[in-house]
Amino acid sequence: MQSKILLEEDEMPKRWYNVQADLPSPLDPPLHPATKKLVTPDDLRVIFPMELIRQEMSPQRYIDIPEEVREILTLWRPSPLYRAKRLEKALKTPAKIYYKYEGVSPPGSHKPNTAVAQAYYNMKEGIERIATETGAGQWGSALAFATSQFGLGCTVYMVRSSYAQKPYRKIMMQVWGAECIPSPSTKTNAGRTILEKYPETSGSLGIAISEAVEDAATHENTNYSLGSVLNHVCLHQTVVGLEAKEQLAMVDSYPDMVIGCVGGGSNFAGISFPFAGDKLTGRRKDVEIVAVEPAACPTLTKGIYTYDYGDVAGLTPLLKMYTLGHDFIPAAIHAGGLRYHGDSPLVSRFVHDGVMRAVAYNQNEVFEAAKLFAQTEGIIIAPETAHAVKAVVDEAMKCRQTGEEKVILFNNSGHGHFDLSAYDIYLQGRLEDYEYPTDLIRDSLARLPKVS
Ligand SMILES: *Cc1c(COP(=O)(O)O)cnc(C)c1O
Repeated sequence: MQSKILLEEDEMPKRWYNVQADLPSPLDPPLHPATKKLVTPDDLRVIFPMELIRQEMSPQRYIDIPEEVREILTLWRPSPLYRAKRLEKALKTPAKIYYKYEGVSPPGSHKPNTAVAQAYYNMKEGIERIATETGAGQWGSALAFATSQFGLGCTVYMVRSSYAQKPYRKIMMQVWGAECIPSPSTKTNAGRTILEKYPETSGSLGIAISEAVEDAATHENTNYSLGSVLNHVCLHQTVVGLEAKEQLAMVDSYPDMVIGCVGGGSNFAGISFPFAGDKLTGRRKDVEIVAVEPAACPTLTKGIYTYDYGDVAGLTPLLKMYTLGHDFIPAAIHAGGLRYHGDSPLVSRFVHDGVMRAVAYNQNEVFEAAKLFAQTEGIIIAPETAHAVKAVVDEAMKCRQTGEEKVILFNNSGHGHFDLSAYDIYLQGRLEDYEYPTDLIRDSLARLPKVS
């Protein structure tokens, strides 16, 4: 029995899979934040390159990956697919657990899969600098790496709590030549407004997005880039699921279950959309697809499916998605990459339509699963990824009870080498589980924008 299933470099996918082509009806379109009318490509041109706007709205099933992008991705792609034999043995489960390992990329997560593509299209359209936000620092470091490959400038607004907790991510960005600024900052109107109201705030992704969007919109040579949520980001991540499908086919297998953690939804989209496509087109009806989120930020399990802003200041288009309200600021849990009030419109639609389902877990049980994974499979995973592993462990334990030999595939979205202080707090028994903040969520949902 193989423990590692590998593809050759020239077997990396040549096209991304666009699941929008297989939806039974189109997504509800984004709306302009001020007029609440349909967003036009011209509205988006201020901050995005034309090709990404096209991809965002494209009905085309497959989109070619440019050769220059493939060349950079092959620095680490195709990524390995592992059979988690040692984890299976420890759990005494008849389930077969496979995982795609995205921690082999230079920044250590799935995020450069889209960062490289986005930097490329911006460079092609004459942009000189990209502004963005980052939570735990993975996206900022991925974009810093990607922009360095194309000689572009990069400004990263980093959520203040992570900036303090995770100095090494900031240093990585600087090594790759990017500028990293703690958010909220005094550089933008959005940042200054928040600081006046909440001088002690630990920041949030929503605030940092407002700052980066404002920076891009007010500088001619600068565009904005988002590391998750949007359709084109999910599209670029489908290389993960497309490769996994090939690799499973090499051992005559197909998953009964696909699992991923969800912050904005991109790594989960990457592993699951090629399988969701099989489900939507009726090629495979039975695959179960599970999104895993933190109980402290329960967007899919406790939020509502409606139009909301992507950022706290209400500068981004309104997206139809599951949301906890755009000014919901989640507790400073260690899975910084999962602290977002909204979710990908595509993932949200699938959860709403019952094509996928969602579960939520607390920090301590999640770190316990991560420790078990490290002690069996060896890899010290990111706290975000650990949410997926916790769900995998639970499903494998159910199989132990029922005797089912389910094939479970999950996305191991990244390593946790810069999250060791969080592991330290867990090992010392000092990690807090945050109660689902019912009152806070009710308050922020009361401030949702009105859309007719
Ligand atoms: C950013 C990140 C996530 C969460 O973001 P998604 O867009 O939901 O994938 C998950 N895992 C890792 C390792 C990350 O860096």
